Amino acid sequence: MLRSTPGANPTSFLSNIILARFGQVVMSTGTLEAGRDVSSSSPTRPIFVTPGTFDIFTVEAAIPQGLTMTQQMWALVKRRAEPGLWLERVPIPEMGINDVLIEVLQTGICGTDLHIYRWDPWARKTVPVPLIIGHEFVGRVVRVGENVKDFYPGEIVSGEGHVVCGRCRNCLAGRRHLCKDTQAIGVNRPGAFAEYIVLPMTNVWAHDPSIPREVQAIFDPFGNAVHTALSFPVLGEDVLITGAGPIGLMATAVVRHAGARFIVVADINPYRLELASRMGANRVFDPRSEDLHAIQRELGMKEGFDVGLEMSGNPQAFRMMLDNMAHGGKIALLGIPETDVAIDWHQVIFNGLTIKGIYGREMYETWYKMTVMLQSGLDIRPVITHKFHYTEYEQAFRILAEGNCGKVILVWKDES
Ligand code: NAD
Ligand code: ZN
Repeated sequence: MLRSTPGANPTSFLSNIILARFGQVVMSTGTLEAGRDVSSSSPTRPIFVTPGTFDIFTVEAAIPQGLTMTQQMWALVKRRAEPGLWLERVPIPEMGINDVLIEVLQTGICGTDLHIYRWDPWARKTVPVPLIIGHEFVGRVVRVGENVKDFYPGEIVSGEGHVVCGRCRNCLAGRRHLCKDTQAIGVNRPGAFAEYIVLPMTNVWAHDPSIPREVQAIFDPFGNAVHTALSFPVLGEDVLITGAGPIGLMATAVVRHAGARFIVVADINPYRLELASRMGANRVFDPRSEDLHAIQRELGMKEGFDVGLEMSGNPQAFRMMLDNMAHGGKIALLGIPETDVAIDWHQVIFNGLTIKGIYGREMYETWYKMTVMLQSGLDIRPVITHKFHYTEYEQAFRILAEGNCGKVILVWKDES
């Protein structure tokens, strides 16, 4: 693991008066001080209040260092409609009576954040500017709204990044991952690449404290992996995973844990194929230089893969998967293609394939499954390959863009 030195001061910069609206958060910053020490603006002690024995006023009184809602925080902001991200001082978000204020400890950088950084066509049509980006995080509860009874200051939590309407047919039926009006934190509402984030209490997940901090930080993409990997039974089945990005790598470990027979993983990046072997793949390969039918024969497989997990978003990878499935095989599609994809529909129809699209995590069954699998021996730590202090975000994004990495973490608060 590469680890950079945390604790460096943020880059010095000077900004003009800005007045902008971040969803519900009104930003208003004057001329900013250059190179201010972040640590001095963060609470230094965790606040522990026994559950059920506090109200908003006692909690407020307990906040150290005079942290108030008018104070500012560092955040990575998509400030302008052009490539780049900007580390800025912005107000700590305001909270309502059903909300939880969380001090962010660590965040994971997702491919989505890279799309927003690069300002590609998807980002241009999806992301309102300005916006604090980021959605993978672990943090500590600082303060809770009056209506919040299930969380308390000091608790270690992550946030489900999809904020749902609660009123549509699927929400009312308990299928919140299928909400027709889903909003995503860090994509179309303020995100987690900041010292603090506010979330509705319905989106907060309290962690088992025995789970390592950096694993808690990536529950969001781990949840994508678990939702996809457990979409179809894999016990005793042969599983093909296309794409060994962080999500494909975690899915490899999950289907191994869940009792698959052969797990074959495809990627075009040797670094990631090596990681896939460490995560439990029986066989890894580069589809540009090896034929999957030959690999099936090598393993003694006769009828094709029972389950396919598409995690690359690459059209050729998807077509290769369709060509290698057993009749009646099941495919879970998580990878997001950048363009329309043509496939041979005869393979789907005459081979009786099932194809299921996956978006996000099931609320909160996926979160439950993640926790209990970690408690029962699943280890996804090898997927985390790099950690940077948040002021080194440019370097972190560069590593992610180069692709010779697993999960890249930004540390917002040094807990050592
Ligand atoms: P990633 O971009 O890090 O990983 C994709 C991997 O696919 C890369 O390692 C790349 O080398 C590999 N790849 C490219 N061409 C390939 C080919 N022809 N054959 C095999 N592999 C190939 O992304 P990630 O963060 O691991 O996410 C995986 C996918 O899931 C992405 O497409 C992402 O956009 C998508 N995603 C979907 C959801 C959802 O809710 N549906 C959520 C998060 C991410
Ligand atoms: Zn809904």
